[in-house]
Amino acid sequence: MTLAAAVRPFALRADLLDFAADPGWSAADDAPGLRLRPGHWLLVDARGRIAGVQADAPDASWQRIDCSGLLLTPGFVDTHVHLPQLEVIASYGTELLDWLNTYTFPAERRWADPAVCAAGAATFLDALLAHGTTSAVVFPTVHAGSADALFAAAQQRGMRVIAGQCLMDRHAPPDLTVAVDASERDSEALVARWHGRDRLAYAVTVRFAPTSTDAQLAMAGRLLARHPGLYMQTHVAENRAELDWVAKLFPDARSYLDVYARHGLVGARSVLAHGIWLDAADHALLAREQAQVAHSPSSNLFLGSGLMPWRALEDAGVPVTLASDVGGGTSLSMLRTMADAYKVQAMLHQRLPAWKALHTVTRGAAQALGLAHEIGSFDTGCLADLALWRWAAGPVATVRDAAARSLHERVFAWMTLADERNLVATWVAGTERHRTPTETAA
Ligand SMILES: [Zn+2]
Repeated sequence: MTLAAAVRPFALRADLLDFAADPGWSAADDAPGLRLRPGHWLLVDARGRIAGVQADAPDASWQRIDCSGLLLTPGFVDTHVHLPQLEVIASYGTELLDWLNTYTFPAERRWADPAVCAAGAATFLDALLAHGTTSAVVFPTVHAGSADALFAAAQQRGMRVIAGQCLMDRHAPPDLTVAVDASERDSEALVARWHGRDRLAYAVTVRFAPTSTDAQLAMAGRLLARHPGLYMQTHVAENRAELDWVAKLFPDARSYLDVYARHGLVGARSVLAHGIWLDAADHALLAREQAQVAHSPSSNLFLGSGLMPWRALEDAGVPVTLASDVGGGTSLSMLRTMADAYKVQAMLHQRLPAWKALHTVTRGAAQALGLAHEIGSFDTGCLADLALWRWAAGPVATVRDAAARSLHERVFAWMTLADERNLVATWVAGTERHRTPTETAA
């Protein structure tokens, strides 16, 4: 039986790994909330929703797909990634502000062309699926057409995507700035067209404080106040030079985060990328509002931005999610992102257990986005966004996997050594949307 032949309803047998709750910082095999159910059946009903998990094979009314020996996780959630930056990934030799001017802004100019937007959005979303990522919070460009193309492509694929037109009205090339009135009209039209449609949601998308005037930030706040269900996404406190620049541009603000807070941009549906250089008062504000920091370890290492003190944020009550931040980050793989997060925490003398990392890219992100009823776990009723993985790919990982003596040891080695080459197939709402071409098993 082949995966492609799957028709709903179906049942898939594999080693099922998900979480019922946050496991905390435990690396124990009986960590709270951990659900690792080897050789169990996941049932997906005709609506593409999870109907249950059971040890015994279901009756013949379910199409049975036996993937014994493979690992099944909920599709991963990437809470911060840039649509137009695949072509600048792995660009040499700059820190954040030079990186934007040298690589990013020139690449983003091409998205004025609707044909570039349509082709680019399809390539981007298919690439996410080929990395086991089924939900994402995405930065398009300042061109309304880039957000339109992304939403249309996500709708075609049935994906959960949160995005919005990128707002910049200064300190960027003139053709990458949009005046406040025009961007307000664009944003309203995009909200009307896409927000709440299928699995799409609109995010008021402020590039970062330096590229917005106070007038534009105020407009962003008005959009959020006018439409209570919208998300907000931006960058905060990524790089020291950026921090100094923000302090000069906004001398009245208490901190970088305060620039956003003063305009009503920090709330439970806010996704703030990076958050490395925040102080205790910032942490208290984020915790009070339950606004999440999208930790982007690969990007932080690659651009030399700094080491995000995850444990301090979490101890203060701030929701922390994980993000690839491609193209600052060097891979769309959330597995590589987790492995980089481990290394960043190691530099801070903190150990990041595999359970915490995996919870963060599944149920944790779902909860931070207010979407735990839809994504992030194998709970009955959630949509069947699934990623099927090999435990080991290649001789080194095979040796390491065979030597593992505990569950955590095995899963941690997988998290550290695996990437998109371990992926077998990806489902979105019960429909297979990706299969790795070389895969002949199952
Ligand atoms: Zn970013």
